[in-house]
Amino acid sequence: MDFRFNDVQESMAKVVRNFANKVLLPQYGYWDQKEEFPYEQWAKMAELDLLGLRVSERYGGQEADCVTAGLIAEEIARGDFNCAYGVLMTCLVGDIIERFATEKIKNNWLSKMAKGEKIICIALTEPQAGCDAAALNARAVKKEDSYVLNGEKSAISLLRASDAAVVFAKTDPAAGARGISAFLVPLDLPGITLQSYPDMGSKAIVRGSLFLDDIVIPEENLIGQEGGGFIQVMQAFDYSRVIIALMCLGAAQITIEETVEYVKQRSVFGKPLAKFEGISFPLVEWLTRLEAARWLCYRALWLRDQELPHTKEAAMCKWLCPELAVAAIHECLLIHGHYGYTREFPIEQRMRDVIGLQIGDGTAQVQKIIISREVFGREFLPY
Ligand SMILES: Cc1cc2nc3c(=O)[nH]c(=O)nc-3n(C[C@H](O)[C@H](O)[C@H](O)COP(=O)(O)OP(=O)(O)OC[C@H]3O[C@@H](n4cnc5c(N)ncnc54)[C@H](O)[C@@H]3O)c2cc1C
Repeated sequence: MDFRFNDVQESMAKVVRNFANKVLLPQYGYWDQKEEFPYEQWAKMAELDLLGLRVSERYGGQEADCVTAGLIAEEIARGDFNCAYGVLMTCLVGDIIERFATEKIKNNWLSKMAKGEKIICIALTEPQAGCDAAALNARAVKKEDSYVLNGEKSAISLLRASDAAVVFAKTDPAAGARGISAFLVPLDLPGITLQSYPDMGSKAIVRGSLFLDDIVIPEENLIGQEGGGFIQVMQAFDYSRVIIALMCLGAAQITIEETVEYVKQRSVFGKPLAKFEGISFPLVEWLTRLEAARWLCYRALWLRDQELPHTKEAAMCKWLCPELAVAAIHECLLIHGHYGYTREFPIEQRMRDVIGLQIGDGTAQVQKIIISREVFGREFLPY
């Protein structure tokens, strides 16, 4: 056993922490209050080569291992939780496109995504199909050398800033999950309409719905085999769930560090708050829980790097870490008294932002269904 990150991982994490502290953190609230996409920050992340971490070098990426990408996501989330979606999405989409898409799509889209020139989102959810993603209704019908797509996709992160979406639609409605295929759909095609959501958090990166009305795309935009889409996204989720968990832990960790400094300065009843064990004990308890959760995440990423099974571990990370992070941030907000409730401090925004990823990419209940399936066996699933 060796709990050290290697020298490259350590030095990258150091550079990114410095960037997150100096460049991202001071502006975190600005984008939220303006409800503007942080293009500037995205460009700076691209300059640091953070938007193609898992993409191979031949497509302009870094070919970083999963543990390294996890470290970067955690560090970026300390500065700006929403900018960490840049690392998350490029890892998730990059993984799907690189493994399954045609060479033409990789050349046209992957390398531009890795350079920060294109943003690609994931469109799986539909109004009637969230947890039960296989119940989606969008249709893709083959017509000669094209596919015609129709349907409504919902809840898509980064939609308004994206140039294309990986869209999941049924090519064979009678085949259930095995009839779902994935397509690269540019978002400037005729017949596409977008609708934004007024969310409680992550306001800078705007989620929304995508309406597809007789969209025609060439057959080379099919990603992988017909009917292979569901498996592709589920395998990629085993990775993105751990990245999300680390994003949430990064946001919680910096909030606790800020709170430790705050309670050393703030005096109540003639003494710094830090002297009261009713204040210091909850903070050190949260630090203990976050530290334990962090190692669960890095072990899951290490398992993925070794190509060992990690579906159960990824699901454990995804339900536990966002829940711990929200509770830790909530406690820090209360410890700040009324100041914590204002926009003077980033705490209320972090809480709003992190809650989103208790739901996005699979709720706690869905993760527990996955873990139960791994523990009890598929024959004990209720469906
Ligand atoms: C911030 C955010 C970002 C997102 N980003 C994307 C994105 O980029 N792309 C995309 O396609 N989607 C995205 N989503 C959608 C997200 O993946 C879905 O919202 C999620 O999978 C849950 O689906 P649902 O909202 O339809 O809830 P439902 O499926 O309607 O479930 C409602 C509630 O019931 C619970 N539940 C469901 N089944 C069971 C069960 N068997 N037992 C117990 N409880 C159960 C759920 O856990 C949930 O609490 C995002 C959502 C959010 C909030």
